[in-house]
Amino acid sequence: MDNIFPVLYLLAAAGFILAIKWMNSPATARRGVVVGEIGMLLAVVGTLLRHEVVTYEWIFIAFFIGSAIGVPIAYYMPMTAVPQRTAFSHACGALASALIGTAEYYRHVPHGTVIVALVLETLLGFLTFTASLMAFGKLQEILPTRPITYPRQNIVNLGIFGFAAALGVALIVSPEMRWLFPIFAITSLVFGVLLIIPIGGADMPTVIALLNSYAGLSASAMGFALHNQLLIVAGALDGSSGFILAVIMCRAMNRSFRNVLFGAFGTIQVSLKQAVERPVRSASPEEAAEILDAARSVVIVPGYGMAVAQAQHRIRELHDILAKRGVDVCFAIHPVAGRMPGHMNVLLAEADVPYDRLVEMDEINPEFSRVDVALVIGANDVVNPAAQLDKTSPIAGMPILNVHEAHTVMVIKRSMNPGFAGIDNDLYYMEKTLMLFGDAKTFVSGIVKELNAAVAGA
Ligand code: NAP
Repeated sequence: MDNIFPVLYLLAAAGFILAIKWMNSPATARRGVVVGEIGMLLAVVGTLLRHEVVTYEWIFIAFFIGSAIGVPIAYYMPMTAVPQRTAFSHACGALASALIGTAEYYRHVPHGTVIVALVLETLLGFLTFTASLMAFGKLQEILPTRPITYPRQNIVNLGIFGFAAALGVALIVSPEMRWLFPIFAITSLVFGVLLIIPIGGADMPTVIALLNSYAGLSASAMGFALHNQLLIVAGALDGSSGFILAVIMCRAMNRSFRNVLFGAFGTIQVSLKQAVERPVRSASPEEAAEILDAARSVVIVPGYGMAVAQAQHRIRELHDILAKRGVDVCFAIHPVAGRMPGHMNVLLAEADVPYDRLVEMDEINPEFSRVDVALVIGANDVVNPAAQLDKTSPIAGMPILNVHEAHTVMVIKRSMNPGFAGIDNDLYYMEKTLMLFGDAKTFVSGIVKELNAAVAGA
């Protein structure tokens, strides 16, 4: 029986690695999720069969409590709330890791490399727990989303982290000083809160990727403390993939880690231009349908508003009818459109938009000057020319989709309100731009209806 654990664990680890590989592309993502789930099942079964399990009762009680929380969250939290959902699961994972570390410490005050792993596990576990809860609160808007800053904040934060690290070192040197452990745990919890306070809601998704990395490293350290190889592998995969994701997101937004963690980005900036009312041209669904019908090439640019309106199925219908009428239609995908990496890909895949119609930013940008109509649906920051033209803009340097180079631009949004970065968008005031005011799903349905009527009348 004992020989079966390494085999189950090996298969589980292979499942996790394949899951990450397959989730890289929308075409194989479903397969990736399934193989990851199978890997997790094998890991759980393997662990439950181990002879070290003292009692199953508590495990099953925890299992039912966890499922009672997790299943409704999975079913009822909307896709647009995935970042906060992820933050919440990191909080739970990190708390589990920290509590296991605490239990292990009090159970048999370990020494040597085990106490080193255990200190790392609990430090990262506790700080990730409170930091993830704070991130959840900010994203869910239970807490203020703007950065909260005060003088010498970074010095205070570094000081508290230094204190927690010093307590950790003291515990490694003298593990039997048990009274130090609660102070160490509380300092780590406090540091997690202070770490997130100065970070604005705008940077929260990147911070969540980083917290994912911390939770993974904590789990990996737990693997060393418990001599569990699968935890080491799974934690290391989680830690490194979270870190890589955070780097990708920083690059896509042209930000540095230092800037994300200490820059207090996300304060609502009211530009002078916004204070002055500027005229815009608007159009109705009928007019928009006519323009689209007359075009030879159309690039649809989806953004966060498409996710809010859940307009992806209507947009698929629009794609189909235009394609049937001989228009060359494709989708331009910005790496940080929406609120999580791959947000647009997931929604468009859900609506069965063919993958080969999705074009990445670097590939589509040189084409925009040849495009007849760019139809922006609920995107704002990712098409804001200020990123290229205004060096003082908070999004200066962020790569954007060059929608402003298309012959005609149409933008579906409900109002002139700014997007995530809180800044005005000059694209809306250009002569070639038509604003299509309304909810994305309703407006696109209106256009589809007009196009269908044109087909029926022809
Ligand atoms: P955005 O800048 O947040 O703009 C979304 C626009 O959608 C808003 O201007 C809003 O205007 C409109 N909208 C909202 N609900 C709508 C509805 N029901 N129907 C029609 N329009 C609607 O979004 P984005 O262009 O996708 O840019 C993403 C932003 O998130 C970037 O700043 C990016 O840096 C940031 N971010 C993304 C990630 C990521 O991983 N994807 C991570 C971190 C940060 P109205 O209110 O007027 O309708």
